[in-house]
Amino acid sequence: MQIKEFSKGRIFMGRLPKGKDLLSSIEEAARNQNVITGRVEVIGAVEKAVIGFYDKKERSYKSISLDKPLEIIQAVGNLSIKDNDVKAHVHVSLGDSEGYTYSGHLMEGTVIFASEIYIQEVVGPKLERTFDEPTGLPLWEI
Ligand code: ZN
Repeated sequence: MQIKEFSKGRIFMGRLPKGKDLLSSIEEAARNQNVITGRVEVIGAVEKAVIGFYDKKERSYKSISLDKPLEIIQAVGNLSIKDNDVKAHVHVSLGDSEGYTYSGHLMEGTVIFASEIYIQEVVGPKLERTFDEPTGLPLWEI
């Protein structure tokens, strides 16, 4: 197990801009408040979405495009450092007009209709993503 202790820092709540990319807006919100490590939650709605599923054999994300309005039932993730910048890793559940849900790794291409964000900063050791050979993923270097 690779784990380190952190403590709670500042808390931010706010609204993300209509028409902008959800993933990059989460990262921008964190960057604007100088949050480099934390937990993030978002609820709201999107115009369309792109979610991913990590193909272990191909060692890449298969992207799934959902070209319709969807509710963000839940988006939860974390903030840490990758390539010397704040990177959000977020998983989403999205609901359609029939009540069906889609879930996956949030990718660029998800366009905000209205979104409310909660950011919990955590304070402690540097938490950085580096390439992990066994999985092919950028994982935390602890
Ligand atoms: Zn993921």
